[in-house]
Amino acid sequence: MKIHEYQSKELLKLFGIPTPESIVTENKISLLNAFKEFGSRAVLKVQVHAGGRGKSGGVKLVENSKDVNDFADKFFGKYFKTIQTGNDSVLINKILVEEVSNILSEMYLALLVDGSHQSINIIVSPEGGTDIEEVASKNPEKILNFPVNTILGPTDFQIREILDFLSLDIKSFSKLKNIIQGLYKLYLEKDCSLIEINPLIVDNRHELIALDAKISFDEDALYKHEDILDLRDINQENEIEIQTAELGIKYVQLKGSVGCIVNGAGLAMATMDVIQSSGLKPANFLDIGGGADEEKISKAMSAVLSDVNVKIVLVNLFGGILRCDVASRGFIMALDKYQSSAPKLIIRMQGTNSEEGKDILNATNYNISFAENLDQISKILMDKE
Ligand code: GDP
Ligand code: MN
Repeated sequence: MKIHEYQSKELLKLFGIPTPESIVTENKISLLNAFKEFGSRAVLKVQVHAGGRGKSGGVKLVENSKDVNDFADKFFGKYFKTIQTGNDSVLINKILVEEVSNILSEMYLALLVDGSHQSINIIVSPEGGTDIEEVASKNPEKILNFPVNTILGPTDFQIREILDFLSLDIKSFSKLKNIIQGLYKLYLEKDCSLIEINPLIVDNRHELIALDAKISFDEDALYKHEDILDLRDINQENEIEIQTAELGIKYVQLKGSVGCIVNGAGLAMATMDVIQSSGLKPANFLDIGGGADEEKISKAMSAVLSDVNVKIVLVNLFGGILRCDVASRGFIMALDKYQSSAPKLIIRMQGTNSEEGKDILNATNYNISFAENLDQISKILMDKE
């Protein structure tokens, strides 16, 4: 689950990490009033669950009420796109007014889980303020990425290494230590999946300040954190993801053209790999789980079909508790709503009642190719499009 920048900064403050003074506003009047509190200059920042706002005009230094007024008219209640929102646009309901920082340098600092090291990793770069993916591809030597020892936490030695890598003055050591230890504590206590400070700045008073902040949380741990759940802004989330979550279907929206319906997370991952290695891109991750009934399967298929980017639907089912004939009937329920506009289907069914399931689908007029294994799926995919 993601939260807004202003909420992330409130959490950072609770954990002793310096952030600029700011006021969050929900309409033009409160925005104008908040601006007055900062005197004659402030930075206005649209609040959406996506980065890249600066490049799309959503972060602006303003120096008079007219600029503030124009910014409010341009963004409040409007939809906004950045490189990170992809094809979707997101609604702007809040604008943050922030004191202007005088920046000497911008750096990148993030914490995330590294599955292969079974650790939380710290990632830093002196190239802050820009897209970290771009730094990673063009100047990988400008990124330092290392695991934190689970028992020791971030050590003084590691913090010293970060200090040097960022070319910070030794006088900043205790400030950097305070920030890194605070972030690590926040990460553990609130079960985060990502904390990204981009940029972390050195200002003209030589203070280290988190100028932007993005925090995501581990969905499976949210039940422990009511305070975090309260921060959820459903307006910013993908509609299909919300609907499927209510049904207990794991669905993650992606940007490709091949919709996937799979049971079991492992099989779902393998299926996405096959799509990728066939030169196509998955439109979603979807795990319908074990004991799905006809209704739930129909909803899963409907969710995939409602994604306008889907050109092919790939079904990869292993019938255990789930019966393939039940699945087929569920699919048809959803497909019948689309009739001739239904996309091509590739179906692999194994296990309980798989023959019956295939017969049911074969008796329809939908454009279906059947596959027996991942290899065949790949071959069919490579013939398509
Ligand atoms: P993002 O584009 O969504 O990542 O939004 P950020 O909050 O990171 O802002 C983008 C960029 O705007 C930053 O990297 C800074 O260069 C600039 N910026 C934001 N706030 C200030 C500020 O107070 N002073 C100055 N000089 N630049 C700022
Ligand atoms: Mn940023």
